[in-house]
Amino acid sequence: METVTNLIDFIKDEFVPEPKQIPERIKKDLTLDLDDIFCPFCGRPLEYYFTNKPRLLITIKYDITLRVVHQRCVNEECIAAASNRSFYNPSLDMYMLPKKMYAMDVVLLIGYLIQQENKTEEEAANYLLEEHGIRISQPSVNKYKRIALALGEALIVGNAERIKSGLDKMPFRVYSIDGLSSNRSRTLFIIRDLISGAVLGSALLDKHDAEAIHDFMDAVFQKFGVPDYMVGDGERGLIAAVRKYYSDIPYQYCQRHFLNNLGVDLMEDLYKALKKN
Ligand SMILES: [Zn+2]
Repeated sequence: METVTNLIDFIKDEFVPEPKQIPERIKKDLTLDLDDIFCPFCGRPLEYYFTNKPRLLITIKYDITLRVVHQRCVNEECIAAASNRSFYNPSLDMYMLPKKMYAMDVVLLIGYLIQQENKTEEEAANYLLEEHGIRISQPSVNKYKRIALALGEALIVGNAERIKSGLDKMPFRVYSIDGLSSNRSRTLFIIRDLISGAVLGSALLDKHDAEAIHDFMDAVFQKFGVPDYMVGDGERGLIAAVRKYYSDIPYQYCQRHFLNNLGVDLMEDLYKALKKN
């Protein structure tokens, strides 16, 4: 308990708000390596291939100078070697957009500020500066707002025709589907061609039910063709969508199990198709 003889110390006597302290950015120098060093197709150890030149990436918390390590399979009988597939850490595509400086968390936040909180582009830019120390121009906010609205198109970066013609030459299609939860209770779903790793589509979904996921899958299948096999994680809505709408397409939880179960014959077909291309 305190005894006082005046309340002046407890009253604020100036009404101009103190200028907000702009948070300091934390700088990081990172090399993104692979933790799984075995070829997912043949099981042989991967070998070092090359490291990308550093690129600047801005996340909500960090300014990252990032280098990405690529590895490759050198087993001449493996489809990964035949297709000249390079492997890098899959988290890169989950959190970073190709050729973009701002990471997925910043993109999602811009989309959220504008769509959910109805901020103007200028207000969003000010918010990013005052709350997170991120300097971004209003035209950039506009650009990233559009990306947040159409993430799928941004990820595919205009390669759709080339990717589709590659898929058409394969004896069968295998797609992988992954869900990444964002901090705003939405999930980013990404569909890829398992053999090449090419992204076929992505969508930021508010709802994770079978219908919402089916709509997204259907749009991708119409564009690139219906897969003969699918691999994915244990996401409940995803499994429900597969059971309800694609019960005739074999679905496997785990990529590694899928590749192990695929069998020598199917692998050989794939290998020959790749050699021919
Ligand atoms: Zn291999």
